[in-house]
Amino acid sequence: MSDTPAYETEILRTGSELEAVDSIRAVVDMLHRGEVVALPTETVYGLGADAFDAEAVGKIFTTKERPSFDPLIVHVPNKRALHDVAQVPEELERLVARLTETFWPGPLTVLLPKAAALPDVVTAGLPTVGVRMSDHPMFKRVMKHFGGPLAAPSANLFGQLSPTSCAAVESQLSGRIPAILDGGACGRGLESTIVRLHATEPKPTIEILRPGPITAEDLKPHGKVIFAERNEDVEAQSPEAPGMLASHYAPSTPLRLLSSPQDFKPEEGKRYALLSYRGQEKDGYLDLHEWDEISILSPGSGRVAEAGIRLFHVLFQLDQQGFDEIVAEPVPDRSVGKAILEKLRKASFNQ
Ligand code: AMP
Ligand code: MG
Repeated sequence: MSDTPAYETEILRTGSELEAVDSIRAVVDMLHRGEVVALPTETVYGLGADAFDAEAVGKIFTTKERPSFDPLIVHVPNKRALHDVAQVPEELERLVARLTETFWPGPLTVLLPKAAALPDVVTAGLPTVGVRMSDHPMFKRVMKHFGGPLAAPSANLFGQLSPTSCAAVESQLSGRIPAILDGGACGRGLESTIVRLHATEPKPTIEILRPGPITAEDLKPHGKVIFAERNEDVEAQSPEAPGMLASHYAPSTPLRLLSSPQDFKPEEGKRYALLSYRGQEKDGYLDLHEWDEISILSPGSGRVAEAGIRLFHVLFQLDQQGFDEIVAEPVPDRSVGKAILEKLRKASFNQ
């Protein structure tokens, strides 16, 4: 893209305290200068810019080639700072206090009416803003020294795999940004859970717009939990459904999500990799074909939380190997499995 500035992307290490101090200072300087920098969070790597600098936020969109109708999430340095970027309606005050007490810092993004002072470019012109507070030690240090909110969506090119390591960010954004803060592999590995709140009686309703590491079970003690209805036709065609586009999170290798082993019809001469949930023959997928590669999301134990942590990492590795197709087993449709299935469904949408 001609309007994307060319950078020599610097990898800022944090392996030792000596390195971390210098790297964090360098990142904070860049953010103050209105640059966009990739930062580790506990979910996936984010692409951060000063949320109150409209020009810097604009660069996030060009760097990611993200359509301007797709809103960004805003990260706050502490719970009080929520009020700098959002307005908490009186009828939701108690619920918001409970959710932020329980889940912040952590992978829960709450949608609220935006503060007037927050530039419209951040929320793609929407009246609401998604806010969260990250629990990643390096992200927290950057936020503390920067002092204000950062707009930070995932550090991938629009529609591609979300990066859960410095190498994965590099493979997509090298040359497009001045620096990546290398904080190692992301501990949660899936994007934050996004919720919309409704002041219903007798208890409030928590509507999950994007499933993620904070599950319906986690949220249940705080209200009636519902899932936003999925509508694939709307998702496929309508830019009015920001960020809910059906094709997303896709590796460049075609991916097919199976519902059952019978769905798999191999074509002669094609090289297939299997993305297995727990690598067990009794699930019926391992012996289905002479796979060119088998990658296991949750080796042995079959835990959806572990599968979630590894999903983007394993897909990134498979994507480097030039298979004709990645064939994914379904995972259980519960807990973090819901988020994994959503990613796999969206990655396989065009197949
Ligand atoms: P990410 O790239 O992981 O930071 O995701 C940003 C996503 O959060 C968007 O694509 C939307 O799905 C969602 N989001 C952020 N802000 C809003 C908002 N104000 N209204 C609805 N969805 C939002
Ligand atoms: Mg994203």
